[in-house]
Parts: sequence; structure tokens; C-alpha cells
Amino acid sequence: QQAEWEKLKDAETFSKDGKQVELAANIGTPKDLEGVINNGAEGIGLYRTEFLYMDSAEMPTEEDQFNAYKAVIEGMNGKPVVVRTMDIGGDKELPYLPLPHEMNPFLGYRAIRISLNEPAMFRTQLRALLRASVYGPLRIMFPMIATLNDFRGAKAILEEEKAKLIAEGVEVSDSIQVGIMIEIPAAAVLAHQFAKEVDFFSIGTNDLIQYTMAADRMNEQVSYLYQPYNPSILTLIKHVIDSAHKEGKWAGMCGEMAGDQTAVPLLLGLGLDEFSMSASSVLKTRSLISKLNISDMQKLAEKAINECATVEEVEALVEEAVASI
Ligand code: PEP
Ligand code: MG
Repeated sequence: QQAEWEKLKDAETFSKDGKQVELAANIGTPKDLEGVINNGAEGIGLYRTEFLYMDSAEMPTEEDQFNAYKAVIEGMNGKPVVVRTMDIGGDKELPYLPLPHEMNPFLGYRAIRISLNEPAMFRTQLRALLRASVYGPLRIMFPMIATLNDFRGAKAILEEEKAKLIAEGVEVSDSIQVGIMIEIPAAAVLAHQFAKEVDFFSIGTNDLIQYTMAADRMNEQVSYLYQPYNPSILTLIKHVIDSAHKEGKWAGMCGEMAGDQTAVPLLLGLGLDEFSMSASSVLKTRSLISKLNISDMQKLAEKAINECATVEEVEALVEEAVASI
């Protein structure tokens, strides 16, 4: 099987009946690039920049960050790179940025909420990203967006820093895409409004599932409720993808679900454009997609959403569909 997958290393990703999708990889540091390239990913769909902050004893400077972002963008050789602005808080702490102790850290002061409240820190990150944008196709993504005002606030700061850099004579790409993670149910439900203003969505199912099911993703006692194939989750995902497409935007996914071999047939059927996963899952996913017909997967996804009431019913449906390929 490994040998069969290896043959797909330099290939693009097509379904059996010719629909193209993008298979990208998730990374935490520039050191992960080697694995990305060795596994034939077509881009970076999620660069979790918080590791740059967590691996440092003090706040990383603009230069530190610029060097890391440039290394990743250049290292991908013209392939697209989605960089997520830092997602500190929740379970991730920083020694040099004291955060208040919270009863519910995953519902608290985290990610874009910190960035919007600590503008100096956020502006430094954005300047580093904007400067690195001339080295390849950069897509900037904001995490934990709950409202349109969150997005507009973050985008306005980005635009300000861009204008400042240009006024300083610094070169900045004029084709940077700016998108958001869809990982809060409110944003998923309102995706049709967000889609008018963003360039893309990336669905963060790790958090979207935890928040939709009200089941802590770290708590084993409630892990039975952590259900990627629950029809409620599939319905939210469908709305997000459909909303993006209505506005001519693309929708990706960077949560674990994107590389889950039971979920992939459903996501393909729902029209997902980009799947971002751990590099080690790319080749087996490319192989799986090459055996699936988009028209069959559309019917499968429709049936899962319209006729299934439980996650077991969805699993049985997918198993049946995949067994016949
Ligand atoms: C997610 O929530 O699905 C996601 C990709 O972000 P993280 O796992 O870093 O919270
Ligand atoms: Mg998340």
C-alpha cells in the first residue's frame, strides 16, 4: 500500500471522475517543512504560529517572526501557505504573557480575543507576515472568530499595518488572501454573512465539534460525544461550504476531521475545496479520493444529512459506500 501511495507523491489530487481538490498539511514550525514536502502536500493549510511564541522565553520579535514566516513561504516554492495568527489561551500558555486564571479557558480569553486586546503584539505579527508576503502566495487566517466585528476589527488592523509598511517603502504583496477559521458555531451558522467579506474559510473541526457538542476535546469522560460524523456537524459544514461557494470563495478544513478516512468521502461530497491534515495522512487521502466518484459522494452526503439521525447511521452509510469501490 505504501508503494502505491508513494507513486502519488508528485501528483495533484483528483476524484475518480476528475474533480480536483487541494491536499495541504498542518505545521507547527518551519522544521515541519521536510515532512510536508516528503509527503507531497500541495500547500500548507494551517501554520499554527503560537508555537513560535510558546517555544520562546520572551515575546518573539518582528525579525524572529519574519524569518520563520519567510522560511516557510520560501520553502514551499510557490505553493500556497495559510498562516494562522497566534492562538494562545485555552490550554496554551505563555511564560511572558500572564493570562488570568479562568473557570472555562476554552470559552475565555483566547486567540483573536487576545490579539484584538493586545494590539502591539498583534501588529508585530501582522507586520512580519506582510513583509514575508513577497516570498510566495500567503493566506492570512484569524482564529476563533465569533462575530463579524471580530473579523472587521482584525482586518482593519491588518490594512493599517499594510498601509504603514507601504508608506515606509517596504514591499508587500497585493494578492494576500485574508480568511477566518470557522470553529465557533455562531460563525458557522452565520457563514452566509461572513462569506461576503472574507476571502476563504477554513473549518476548524477540533474546536467546532467541541463547541457544538458541548464536549471538552481533552476530557475522556465525554469523548463519546466528540462526534465528527454527527449529522448536526455535517449540516454546519454543509452550510459553511455552500455559503463560501455562493460568494465565489473557497472553503477548506484544517481540523483532524479533514484527514479522517471515514469523513473524507462525506467532505468530498459536500464540496470541500481544500483538506489540510498532518503530513503523514496526505498520500493515503490522495489515494482514497482517487477512487471516489464525486457524484456518488454528493448523494452519500445528502443522504447522511437528510436521512440520518445518529452518528452510527452515518458511519454505516459511509462504510457501505466505500466497501463497493
Ligand atoms: C481546530 O480547532 O480544528 C484547529 C485546527 O485549531 P486547533 O486544533 O489549533 O485549535
Ligand atoms: Mg481551534
